[in-house]
Amino acid sequence: MSKTRLATVWLDGCSGCHMSFLDIDDRLLDLAGVIDLVYSPLVDFKEFPAEVDVTLVEGAISSVEDLEKIKRIRKQTKLLVSLGDCAVTGNVPSLRNPVGVGPILQRVYMDDILLYPQLPSQVVPELLPQVRPVHTAVKVDIYVPGCPPSADTIFYVVAELLAGRVPDLAHRTRFGV
Ligand code: SF4
Repeated sequence: MSKTRLATVWLDGCSGCHMSFLDIDDRLLDLAGVIDLVYSPLVDFKEFPAEVDVTLVEGAISSVEDLEKIKRIRKQTKLLVSLGDCAVTGNVPSLRNPVGVGPILQRVYMDDILLYPQLPSQVVPELLPQVRPVHTAVKVDIYVPGCPPSADTIFYVVAELLAGRVPDLAHRTRFGV
C-alpha cells in the first residue's frame, strides 16, 4: 500500500504549532509507517512537491511571499488543513492590522535605532497591507483551532485523515480532551 504524502508548512507563525506536532512523541513512529513527509521545516526539501495528499499549514498570510506560496501549495494539495489559530483567524500576527505596515516598519527598523537605521530593501519579504487567515486566500478543507492545538488533537486529525474520515473536532479542546 502506498504511503500518504504529508506536508507541513510554516507561514507567519511562531513555530509553536510545529512544536506541538513534534509533541506527538512516540506516536510519530506509528505515523512514519504510513506517511511520507514530503515537505516541512522539519526536513530538508526545498521545493513544495506535486501531488501532496495532506498539507498542515501553520501561520497566517502576512507577506507577498506567503500569498504566492499558499496559492501554489493549494494547487498541489488534495486536503489543506489550517493548523492553529494563526492560520484559522490571523491571531497574533494580525495584531499589526490596525497599525498599518508603514508605522510598524518605522517602529521596528528606524525609531530609537542608534546604528544604521534603515528600512529593509532585501531579504525581508514585502508585507501585505493586512495579515489574513488562510481561508481568505485559498480553500481550506479542515480547521484545527488552538494556540497551539494540542499534540493529541493534531494526532487525532492526522489519524482520522489517514483513515479516510473527516475529523470531528466539535467536542475537543486545545488540551485534546
Ligand atoms: Fe504560534 Fe499559536 Fe500561532 Fe501556532 S497558533 S503559530 S502556537 S501563535
